[in-house]
Amino acid sequence: MRTDYDLLVIGGGPAGAIAARTAAQAGHSVLLVEKRPAIGAPVRCAEGIGKEALAEFVTPDERWIAVELKRAEIVAPDGATMMLEAAMAGSKIGYIIDRKVFDRELVWQAADAGADVMVKTRASAPLMEGGSVKGAVLESCGEQKKVEAAVTIAADGVESKFSRWCGVNTAVPVREIMSSCQYLMTGIEIDHECTTFFLGNEVAPEGYLWIFPKGKRTANVGIGISGKKSGAGHRAKDYLDRFVRERFPGGKTIECIVGGVSVCRPLSRTVADGLIIAGDAARVVDPLTGGGIYNAMYTGDLAAKVAIQAMGAGKTDADALMLYDQGWRSSTMGKAIERNYHIKEYLINLPDDKLNAIIHSARSLDLKDFSTFTLIKELMKRNPKLVAELALLKATIG
Ligand SMILES: Cc1cc2nc3c(=O)[nH]c(=O)nc-3n(C[C@H](O)[C@H](O)[C@H](O)COP(=O)(O)OP(=O)(O)OC[C@H]3O[C@@H](n4cnc5c(N)ncnc54)[C@H](O)[C@@H]3O)c2cc1C
Repeated sequence: MRTDYDLLVIGGGPAGAIAARTAAQAGHSVLLVEKRPAIGAPVRCAEGIGKEALAEFVTPDERWIAVELKRAEIVAPDGATMMLEAAMAGSKIGYIIDRKVFDRELVWQAADAGADVMVKTRASAPLMEGGSVKGAVLESCGEQKKVEAAVTIAADGVESKFSRWCGVNTAVPVREIMSSCQYLMTGIEIDHECTTFFLGNEVAPEGYLWIFPKGKRTANVGIGISGKKSGAGHRAKDYLDRFVRERFPGGKTIECIVGGVSVCRPLSRTVADGLIIAGDAARVVDPLTGGGIYNAMYTGDLAAKVAIQAMGAGKTDADALMLYDQGWRSSTMGKAIERNYHIKEYLINLPDDKLNAIIHSARSLDLKDFSTFTLIKELMKRNPKLVAELALLKATIG
């Protein structure tokens, strides 16, 4: 087995797969390692992604597109609904994908471009030399191997132990970890072209509950609540069970997942000597929506590009890799994370009556652009009573 690569990528999710694909396509030697026995499973995702965001990195393919969305619905704590139709957005809302197939497709593309891939292989420690990361110790089927690399990309997801072992502080405050639970349900009456979001402190404290259709009568039905609101008898699963009992009494659950989503600010530094941190490991999930597939692909791609440039210049220390950190922070994605962090902090503290008021006023909106940002901005305009509270927020989002 080869033990020396230009790039070692830890994790076979969207961040790792795109990093490996970008580097391999540029002719570099790449090894991608994934600790699970199969890429893409188990799925820990509601599988929603915007159309344009997706198309930036991969051509949509019916093999992994479960549903093309036509509308989205927001349900206020008092039950009032607000519908956002695709016509408002020039039909560019998004898809519900099938990540078991999607993640495999991305890794397949990386392999097809020349990357080596090892599944059931866990990076268990970094190889360190003079404070710099030089690769990793890999454990595969009871055997240990050392693999050296000019640059290592930690794309090991929300749990992200690798960068911690390299000395990076990756801690997330409990209140900023969304504790999530999701059922894949079938035999349920839904609008199979519509995503629905339920808000309110009774339904999902400091979070939201979602129905993301995966086909006719089948959907991901899930919830994320603030870790600080979770406890015996009122865990994410308790809220979800209550909702499902009332809404889909005859539904069948055919898959259950639990997981955490970080809704904090990104790591204060996403590079170290010989190391780049991408995707959930870098905490670049959108703090407002909890969406991280696009951000993972974006940072994975940028990580590979900066690594290639650094290797070309023969300098892979943190200073050389800082272009990555600066690059994603100054990007549209990086700015959106910062802006949405402020919006999230504001919204999670709203009592239900204010949430009701906002959603009632939003029902008459005629949005030309379907983004979360446009929606929030319009809502702010229509709720003058909130303006004083929003002074800081308005200054942030412009
Ligand atoms: C309940 C839930 C719902 C979500 N819904 C959405 C949604 O609808 N839309 C959206 O955009 N985002 C959603 N997200 C977030 C999204 O799933 C993540 O942001 C995305 O998967 C991040 O990709 P990634 O490549 O950074 O990490 P991951 O996809 O987590 O991949 C990391 C990989 O690294 C592997 N790994 C970890 N440690 C090691 C190691 N030491 N050695 C080798 N391999 C290792 C893991 O097994 C994993 O496969 C959701 C998340 C959750 C939990």
